[in-house]
Amino acid sequence: MENLLEIRDLHVHFTTYAGVVQAVRGVNLSLARGEAVALVGESGCGKSITAQSIMRLLPSPQGKIVKGTINFAGQNLVKKSEREMEKIRGNEIGMIFQDPMTSLNPTMTTGNQIMEVLRRHSRMTRQEMTARAVEMLRLAGIHQPERRLRQYPYEFSGGMRQRVMIAMALACGPRLLIADEPTTALDVTIQAQIMELMQDLRQKLGTAVILITHDLAVVAGFARRVMVMYAGKIVESGTARELFRSPLHPYTRGLLGSVPRINDRARQPLTPIAGRPPDLLNPPPGCAFWPRCSEAMQVCARQEPAMVEAASGHSAACWLLHPQAQNRRRVG
Ligand code: SF4
Ligand code: MG
Repeated sequence: MENLLEIRDLHVHFTTYAGVVQAVRGVNLSLARGEAVALVGESGCGKSITAQSIMRLLPSPQGKIVKGTINFAGQNLVKKSEREMEKIRGNEIGMIFQDPMTSLNPTMTTGNQIMEVLRRHSRMTRQEMTARAVEMLRLAGIHQPERRLRQYPYEFSGGMRQRVMIAMALACGPRLLIADEPTTALDVTIQAQIMELMQDLRQKLGTAVILITHDLAVVAGFARRVMVMYAGKIVESGTARELFRSPLHPYTRGLLGSVPRINDRARQPLTPIAGRPPDLLNPPPGCAFWPRCSEAMQVCARQEPAMVEAASGHSAACWLLHPQAQNRRRVG
């Protein structure tokens, strides 16, 4: 069956006073109906911008899709007008963000906010909309939904607000949910509950999900496939199982090294990858990771490695996977 989402060679540029930032540099991503994938990487790697491109919510006029296609259910979103996108957003593609307080309207009751989404996209009567809002809040694990509908966002805890956001994002039954750091602002116990809720709803409603996170620990048990992004490109892609067990790219290995083990959370300090991502105003030639890579060879600084499928469905863009790189000489 045809994929629900198919992104091909996506390039996004941002115009700044300093020059043009190449924020996304040739992303390919596909998602089957009902599938959950994770897009993982440090902040600034282009994962949120990829999500904003799908929603066509790039900051305007600075952010621009300069190349590529985003096929969603057979239509290229890059070519859609703002009016056409308004019909798709919230209705066919839902989105939740890190901080629900900034995306919820503080002056409107949660019930009215959910109903607002329904009003925009359906012809339900007020009674039907209320019933739907109650149903969604209940599905999102909120007790006494009838009473909660009449409350304002400030009357909810952070975790509860994220549940409201999820209820709102799923109210119209979208085929795709984009969750951008949905649990980052929450403490660890609540994080786990929200991930469990998303998993549960995904299975019940059959919604495909793109989970965006900098935290690989959140991914395990949720997404079947993981894509690791670095400096505007996907550098590794595989099943979560394969990627955790045998990461191919030195950057992924670094990320896994900085995942706190569940039991040692308090004791074990994280070992972040030394150095910083490159300046995307002037992306370096070669592999963008080479200045930070302990395995860098001469070729890495000169020529960009192509994606290589090392095992079935498990690929990475790294010279270590190329036969020509056998004769390795380290940089510096
Ligand atoms: Fe490191 Fe070279 Fe692989 Fe880049 S291509 S990750 S620099 S070994
Ligand atoms: Mg982000």
